[in-house]
Formats: sequence, C-alpha cells, structure tokens
Amino acid sequence: MTHFAALSNGEFLEPPRHYRKAEKQLKKLQEALSRKKRGSHRRAKAVKVVAKAHRKIRNQRADFAHKASRCLVNRFQILVFEDLKTANLVKRPKPKQDEATGAYLPNGASAKAGLNKSIVDAGWSQFVELCTYKAAWAGRTLLKVSPKRTSQICPNCGNVGKKALDERWHSCECGAEMDRDTASAKVILDLGRKHLLVGTRPTSATA
Ligand SMILES: [Zn+2]
Repeated sequence: MTHFAALSNGEFLEPPRHYRKAEKQLKKLQEALSRKKRGSHRRAKAVKVVAKAHRKIRNQRADFAHKASRCLVNRFQILVFEDLKTANLVKRPKPKQDEATGAYLPNGASAKAGLNKSIVDAGWSQFVELCTYKAAWAGRTLLKVSPKRTSQICPNCGNVGKKALDERWHSCECGAEMDRDTASAKVILDLGRKHLLVGTRPTSATA
C-alpha cells in the first residue's frame, strides 16, 4: 500500500478510502463502454455514465487537494516538493528560523499506474498548484527540488545506496530504519534547506 504523499516527519497523506472505490467503479464503466457497439444508443448512454463518473472523481480530487493543501500550509513554514517536471526552484520569502518545517513528495504516480493514471497525475499537479497558491498567500516558503537520487540517499548519514522499485523500506548501515518515502522526504527537505542557506536564486517564480 502506497500513499498520495509522504512527509518528512513520518506522516502520510492519503485521500479518503471511498475515492478508490469511485476509481474502481469508473474502470468498470469504461470496460463496459468499450464493449458497446459503435454508434449504438447503448454506447451513447454508457458514454454519459462514464463522463459522470469522471466528474465525480474530479470533484473528489479537488476537494481533497483543497483540504490537504490548506492543512499543510497552516502547519508548515517551509514546504519542499519533489519537482517532477523540472529541477527549477520556486522560492518564496525567507522563513522565520523558529517555525516548523515540513516536506513531502509524491509517490502515487508509479504505484497507481494502470488505473486512471491521468486522474492521479492531474490530482497531484492540482495539489501542488493549490499548495503554491496558498503558500504565497500565507507567506510560506515553497521550494521545488530535483527528485534525482532522492530515493538513494540516506537522510541520516548521507550514504548512497540504490533501491529496487519495490523496496519500500529504507534500511542503512548507520542504523536508520524508516519507510522509503519518509526517507526521500527527509532528503528533499534537506535539499530545500541547503538551497535556502546558500540563497540560490529562483529560476522561476509563482504568484
Ligand atoms: Zn545511513
């Protein structure tokens, strides 16, 4: 079982269980649609049913993205994301030193492969967008760092060791033991902090 996102503090973000049900239902409806004869009334009807199921999932995703992003922005002063598209940095005003920090990364992308992947992906980019927007309003620092090798580095000692894709647990000679995605999130947060320390100029800025 994988998660929508992992935080560096060991927490995970997970959409409500019934979302999965809606996705499974959509898959069934799509399969039923593919069996209908082209140009038939039954097919036209099935197309409408599938569109409705799509809408339902879209609404659920948006609702989850709004709530989850609000929660994170309220709790954390620094938010560091794994940047799936580019290694560009998006920087907000410097944070106050004493406030809590957090980081998280997506990992659902590959794990939910096959089943309505486009919906999962759309959900993630919408989530990141909402976090960026809310972070800007709340004066939070939001960074995106390159995901390169983040799953190979030990957040405790810096050791680099390759993991197989199905290896869900981070176990290091230094004694570090934790969920693979928690380990990656810690590495991502460290990367973000380093960027903030050296004051790397953002290559692009958002709202
Ligand atoms: Zn280690």
